[in-house]
Amino acid sequence: MNSAATSTAPERFWSHVVQGPAPTDCWIWTGAIGDDGYGRFWVPQPDGGQRAMRPQRWLYEHLTGVALLPDVLLLHACDVPLCVHVDVDEARSHLATGSHRGNMLERVQRGRHRNGSTAIRTAGLARAERVRLSRELREAFRDHGWDPAAIAAHKTGIQPDTPTLW
Ligand SMILES: [Zn+2]
Repeated sequence: MNSAATSTAPERFWSHVVQGPAPTDCWIWTGAIGDDGYGRFWVPQPDGGQRAMRPQRWLYEHLTGVALLPDVLLLHACDVPLCVHVDVDEARSHLATGSHRGNMLERVQRGRHRNGSTAIRTAGLARAERVRLSRELREAFRDHGWDPAAIAAHKTGIQPDTPTLW
């Protein structure tokens, strides 16, 4: 691909991201999505090939200079698999490293207290459902740019145009 050869990895990365206006907002990946519902960012390798990475992992390594070992997970505190909002300040970052379930559950509890809602719901969703929700969110952002209503709908799994029944 010519575009990959003429633009840098950071340029390509940010061309696929829509950032919310507030410092605490999500940054939504609008590029490729894998069959697990998470983004895919293709990164050129020294041997001339390309490797697909989750974009949030690429940004974490890009910003921190720390290479993530394969068994180190980046966990979403915001419950949005397409979010790539990494900050070196963990209090602002939507993603945190973790390697065990306890870490995630602890963040879920904190999220519930903070938001008064059931955060990290997508972590328990079936794979196919997560892919569907991620694609919906990506299409909303591709069509409208920053779209808080689409994120809210994504978190509840309810489409914005679905009538409320209660
Ligand atoms: Zn987020």
